[in-house]
Amino acid sequence: MSTDQLKKEISAIKGTHDILPGEVRLWQIAESRAREIFELYGYRELRAPVIEPTELFEKGTGASSDIVTKEMYTFTDKGGRSITLRPEYTPSVVRAIIEHRLDLQPQPLRYYYIGPMFRYDRPQKGRYRQFHQIDIEVFGEKDPAVDAEIVEMAHRLLARLGVERVMTLVNSVGCKKCRPAYGQELRKAALAVKDRLCPDCQRKAEVNPLRIFDCKNEACREAASGFPLITDFLCPECREHFQKFREYLDLYRLEYRVEPTLVRGLDYYTRTAFEIVAEHLGAQSAICGGGRYDDMVKEFGGPDLCGIGFAMGVERLLSVARIQIPETSFVYFAYLGQEAKKECLRLARALRSEGIESLVEFKDRRMKDHFSRANKLGAEWVLIVGEDELRKGKFQLKDMVNSRQFEGSVLELAAIIKGKKILETT
Ligand code: AMP
Repeated sequence: MSTDQLKKEISAIKGTHDILPGEVRLWQIAESRAREIFELYGYRELRAPVIEPTELFEKGTGASSDIVTKEMYTFTDKGGRSITLRPEYTPSVVRAIIEHRLDLQPQPLRYYYIGPMFRYDRPQKGRYRQFHQIDIEVFGEKDPAVDAEIVEMAHRLLARLGVERVMTLVNSVGCKKCRPAYGQELRKAALAVKDRLCPDCQRKAEVNPLRIFDCKNEACREAASGFPLITDFLCPECREHFQKFREYLDLYRLEYRVEPTLVRGLDYYTRTAFEIVAEHLGAQSAICGGGRYDDMVKEFGGPDLCGIGFAMGVERLLSVARIQIPETSFVYFAYLGQEAKKECLRLARALRSEGIESLVEFKDRRMKDHFSRANKLGAEWVLIVGEDELRKGKFQLKDMVNSRQFEGSVLELAAIIKGKKILETT
């Protein structure tokens, strides 16, 4: 095999990517801020497996959704079971609630999760086959106040991550009571313009015309702009819920726009649907999408428990976030000879116990080369261990930023390093 062939064979799978250490810092900050904020609202982390039975998504996400019809990573395992790499998180949480009867516990049913999702979509900027979501779900809260609270929580996170210029789009997709009448009207309208629709939407016109609104094809969008709107068909309860939801958004002084064609790509939504978009991102502008799914738990054979949640795409979030990465400070060990090397191992161990990052590299270097290496790495401190230092049991510590030098025992030097850290953070 030629090197070129080998390179090709071992590169990452199309639509997936490595997150390298430089960039990972941003991910860690975003994730830890998300966790911090969600916990402030009483949410707790729930970690479900990456693989699930295929039926979970067929039933949960919806057999006629684009995700299920076109985008699932499904395979048969060695036991002959059909397994799917989760394309979204909500059905997994619903399954976990039913399986563990979490609804019988006194804790609020508020969960969050951060992790990878998989969709076999056409990869492009902002759209990947393995991507990551920050996901939250709440169960058992019917009140539209919770719908607004999760939108407010999403905005709090966006603000903490320096995301600006976003717009919230809101809609109500009705419920089992009012959607059928709307569906009929919509089907009529879709069939009337069937020849202007793409083959996929022609099929949707028959099975689930609501899904035509998800199509990205310009001609279909154009045709759909004349379709009847769900907001004109809402039953009094759905209309009231939508009205109250917006009143609570006003209470939080959150700006939003009612977007009656926002139906979201999944079949299970009831009433509230929303998206937060960064309009300057272009085609893949949705950073966060969410909504209510009041029938899902029951349809899975669980208790009659309503639900609502959202998912944020981490890749898209980071493409618009402005996060300051804090400077890291560490000690580089410059030593000469075998004895000094052993002393460095002991010293590094002591410094790490004091919470100080310490780097010992095991290459024979001259003192001069140690310093150029430390400079290249951006070390804030260099701890020098030569013959003299070994004899005295006192070491030289060089502050590479301010060109100062100190001498002392390891604990004295640790105090200096930490003192500076403390001074810098206060
Ligand atoms: P959805 O589950 O489709 O509502 O998606 C929720 C959020 O996940 C979207 O608003 C995007 O930010 C993100 N997202 C969805 N699909 C992808 C994808 N293929 N690649 C990257 N991000 C995605």
